[in-house]
Amino acid sequence: ANDNLNGKVVVITGASSGIGEATARLLARYGTRLMLGARRGEKLRELVTVLESAHDDTMAAFEVTDVTQRDQVQALVDAAKQKFGRVDVLINNAGLMPVSYLDELKVDEWDRMIDVNIKGVLYGIAAVLPIMRAQHGGHVINVSSVAGHRVLPTYSVYSGTKYAVRAISEGLRQESRGEIRSTIISPGLTSTELPSHITDPNAAETMDKMFAIAIDADAIARSIKYAIEQPDDVDVNEIVVRPTKQE
Ligand code: NDP
Repeated sequence: ANDNLNGKVVVITGASSGIGEATARLLARYGTRLMLGARRGEKLRELVTVLESAHDDTMAAFEVTDVTQRDQVQALVDAAKQKFGRVDVLINNAGLMPVSYLDELKVDEWDRMIDVNIKGVLYGIAAVLPIMRAQHGGHVINVSSVAGHRVLPTYSVYSGTKYAVRAISEGLRQESRGEIRSTIISPGLTSTELPSHITDPNAAETMDKMFAIAIDADAIARSIKYAIEQPDDVDVNEIVVRPTKQE
């Protein structure tokens, strides 16, 4: 049933926790080969060890990667190509959500969100496109958000980055020349480390209440798996997944 997953080489950014980690764990069960990136090398090392002992000891590897550094994103993708011979799927998942009111002028956090959530995605696309063109095939999955469809107070910049992710994904789809599949994954409230980086106390309090209904990261991983396992002539362009109770 999962003929289009087995053996695929998948690069995942932000694989050290949350949705990225859950996706690595799920895809590993279906015979994919994984190259995992994030800044926290120790977390990635532990995850690779767990995956290798559950599956086989050549199916996963990691590179310490800061997606705001183009050369590091290139090195992550190159490591996948070097180790596994090709790159079938890139999951641009790394992201930050330090939401706050604009009046707080947390300009450094605005910069960080733009650097990680937008530029990180673009650096990923820049790294895989030449490889996927040479292969005449590939799949880029970009993690946006329900916040990429709707703005709420404190979400201006975060939503701006996630709208941008959807625009970039759609542009890639239009330019795919029938070779490259492009998928937007737009999660709603999902239980991960994401809200723990909010520094505005008012926004943090609101967020704590909102996240009471959050769903498990595995729910998002399952939607990513669904997009990948479709036959090559089927491009799942966007999946929105949120808690049943989310407004
Ligand atoms: P987590 O905070 O659990 O995971 C974020 C991941 O991104 C971590 O692995 C982190 O690793 C990585 N990361 C952060 N900054 C960088 C960087 N500069 N370079 C490389 N990796 C980085 O949150 P989620 O799993 O929730 O987030 C994953 C994606 O899902 C994000 O794009 C987020 O916006 C999106 N999303 C999440 C929702 C939710 O409710 N949780 C809802 C909608 C979208 P490390 O710190 O080791 O670098």
